[in-house]
Amino acid sequence: MKFYEMERPDIEKKLNVNLEKGLNSKEAEKRRKQFGVNELEEGESQSAFKLFISQFKDFMILVLLAATLVSGLLGEYMDAIAIVAIVIVNGFLGFFQERKAEQSLQALKELSAPKVNVLRNGEWIKIPSKELVIGDVMKFESGDRIGADVRILKANNLELEESALTGESVPVPKIAESIHGEHLNIGDLENMAFMGTMVTRGNGIGVVTAIGMNTAMGKIADLLQNAETLSTPLQMRLEQLGKVLIVAALFLTALVVGIGILQGHGFYEMIFAGVSLAVAAIPEGLPAIVTVALSLGVQRMIKKRAVVRKLPAVETLGCASVICSDKTGTMTQNKMSVTHLWSNGKTWTVSGTGFSPNGEFFEDGVRIIPQREKSLYQLLTFGLLCNHAELKQNKRDFFIDGDPTEGALLVAAMKAGLTRENLSQQFTVEQEFAFDSIRKMMSVVVKDQSGQRFVITKGAPDVLIQKCSSILWNEKKVNFSRDHKKIVDNVIRDFAGMALRNIAVAYKPLKERESAIQNVEEAEKELIFIGIEGMIDPPRPEVRQAIKECREAGIKTIMITGDHVMTARAIAKQLGILDNRSKVVSGQELNQMSIAELEEVVQDTAVFARVSPEHKLKIVRALQNNGHIVAMTGDGVNDAPAIKAADIGIAMGISGTDVAKEASSLVLMDDNFATIKSAIQEGRNIYENIRKFIRYLLASNVGEILVMLFAMILAFPLPLVPIQILWVNLVTDGLPAMALGLDHPEEDVMKRKPRNPKEGVFARGLGWKVLSRGFLIGAVTIIAFIVARKQHPENLAYAQTIAFATLTVSQLILVFDCRSEHSIFSRNPFENRWLVLAVFSSAVLLLAVIYIPSLQPVFQTVTLPPREWLLILGLSALPTFLLAGSFYTRKRK
Ligand code: ATP
Repeated sequence: MKFYEMERPDIEKKLNVNLEKGLNSKEAEKRRKQFGVNELEEGESQSAFKLFISQFKDFMILVLLAATLVSGLLGEYMDAIAIVAIVIVNGFLGFFQERKAEQSLQALKELSAPKVNVLRNGEWIKIPSKELVIGDVMKFESGDRIGADVRILKANNLELEESALTGESVPVPKIAESIHGEHLNIGDLENMAFMGTMVTRGNGIGVVTAIGMNTAMGKIADLLQNAETLSTPLQMRLEQLGKVLIVAALFLTALVVGIGILQGHGFYEMIFAGVSLAVAAIPEGLPAIVTVALSLGVQRMIKKRAVVRKLPAVETLGCASVICSDKTGTMTQNKMSVTHLWSNGKTWTVSGTGFSPNGEFFEDGVRIIPQREKSLYQLLTFGLLCNHAELKQNKRDFFIDGDPTEGALLVAAMKAGLTRENLSQQFTVEQEFAFDSIRKMMSVVVKDQSGQRFVITKGAPDVLIQKCSSILWNEKKVNFSRDHKKIVDNVIRDFAGMALRNIAVAYKPLKERESAIQNVEEAEKELIFIGIEGMIDPPRPEVRQAIKECREAGIKTIMITGDHVMTARAIAKQLGILDNRSKVVSGQELNQMSIAELEEVVQDTAVFARVSPEHKLKIVRALQNNGHIVAMTGDGVNDAPAIKAADIGIAMGISGTDVAKEASSLVLMDDNFATIKSAIQEGRNIYENIRKFIRYLLASNVGEILVMLFAMILAFPLPLVPIQILWVNLVTDGLPAMALGLDHPEEDVMKRKPRNPKEGVFARGLGWKVLSRGFLIGAVTIIAFIVARKQHPENLAYAQTIAFATLTVSQLILVFDCRSEHSIFSRNPFENRWLVLAVFSSAVLLLAVIYIPSLQPVFQTVTLPPREWLLILGLSALPTFLLAGSFYTRKRK
């Protein structure tokens, strides 16, 4: 018998599990050991060895190695060994950089792995989907991606989208009853939920029947090896630029070689120098360093509780000009507690803080006993029956497992002595129509001990009113007259004006013989209004400041919420989003606007309230049409299209569904708005750091090429021997460039306007900085060479050593200049300890190759007297300080 044909007892027997209690943890552990983890096998990742070897596949490296071989054969052993050593060290550097990048990407993947709700030892707990075993009882709801193959045991309006398996994107309804038939396809198995499919509606419970490669998805997993590693726009631009730079470097190198040969240099000498120069000047390390800088930045973001799911988002973050953020839980704490209740013309207040179930009820400031107030008691009771939240307690505090809004209703009911346990003896829930943010309501059908069945509905008051035809007044059902509606409207306004989030409760008795309710529309009509519970949800304390900082950074914040217009307005005011000039627009108004009209309106709108998820997409489009780079948050299934359409889709880590997370490029682990700001700040910083080392590497390379070019044009001997060129390249491109990737942001990164995403690599003066600094580095090095030649015409190695030292030192000074968009003087040079350390160790290495006798023949250096360092340091400082000075004169003008 197949699982879909079985009834519960057969399933229990076959899977050896008690479906009421789930597996116990020992048994689960045993099964995991026996059957392995619940994972689809992935394509093999590149082995470390292969990655290392790939570092040497570069064409110029191969040419260099060939040239080295020739020089080795010609008897230049020392040279050959030193060059091979440098190439190997270079290879290791590239290897570690790439490996680090790969590992951090892998770590990211694990961080954003989904969790599932399973029943173990009779308790619902959350475990990583990887740890599911056969026989686990799990529950799922709208927005979840199913983590294994599951036989459904309970289905409430459950619908699944199975396109990953069947290609059919229309969601299919699911049931819990067994089915029989022959030649059933996956699409026919209505009581099974398959790994990889997603819940688009309702909720359900099921038992795992297959995991990992044995699932239906596992069987076709080979077809799905679509591990996408997206390049960022900058990486793509750099890749193109890299090609141009290679051609330019090769051309200039050829020029150097050609002129050198014409000027009478030896053919072999020039080829060797040329190849070394090409190896040094081609910025082959650039893409790897960019990836490292990106992934280091990504790790810093993780520390700030933002997980980047798609690398390109790191860059786009720095361009964000609008953040559209949910209110509840993101700007507010999601720690709701009911403070005001209204029913039957009376208003009560409740004391107590947080989710602690201790508090008292008051009417006009006088304490009352809630059990004696019939309408209040009924409001609380029904608010608890139409409710899934559970109150739990850890060492420090009470917390809610489930929806905090429902948690607040639960706690309020508990303050009146009601508990779910007691109620479940009097009422059984027969049917449920889950909450969704389009209807803004939720309903259950319950039966009491006498067999009487009711529909209980709770939801946004202004919406629920429209579904009510009567109201409970003095314990009697009376017609919901215009006067009553006016009274209720005023209560809604009063409560919302106090920034309360409101839930109304209504009900209707069903006739004895009435069969099960077929659809939501049938359940949620002709209801009897009972009352309203108003809850506070305090703003997160750090959000106000974050919004202010965003404003200074040229980023506008828009609040988008399903909550009431007045509640939203009150909270937006508290947070400083709403000022006198900006507007609040409601979902209803939005419905009547075309995109073009919205483009106009959105310019001075700060709050969109009572909106549905589909409105978010419209808002994103309008903002994008206005030229904005939009960051949009979301958590539900219905938010996914807007999250996808936004330039930066942001999902909530705690309250977000799998679907929202998968659509997003950034996940907030703490659901906090302030984290978005930190991520943007980090995004800007990462981009600036990348600019810093592009500027550094390219200016250095330009300098290296120009020294050689100048010398050849002036008919000088070689100012640098090949091994020196390779050494300069290794030492300066290695540690100092990496340390720039770790630099702190400049103070004003969050005071600048968002970056234009279309800007090129050389935008904002970078091209000029590269060329001017590079030119000067080439010039001072050649001047040092000329001066030394004058002093010691007979000793070429002496002049070469001085040129070598000047080239290295000028790059080590330049690196500090590259830290700032403004000037070297605008920052404390010792702030970045890594950089100081990198420069220090490079300097020590320079002294080592100049002064250690055994290294001198290898690097063809000679001992320099101390006074020469005055010349070297003086000249080396010029490229940086000359232009830093020019910055100041320009600024003063
Ligand atoms: P945000 O988009 O800022 O997160 P939100 O959480 O207030 O806004 P929704 O969750 O869509 O948006 O809620 C909209 C309205 O639906 C709320 O104002 C409330 O009145 C009602 N509501 C919220 N949760 C429930 C629930 N579990 N059951 C019934 N009604 C609810």
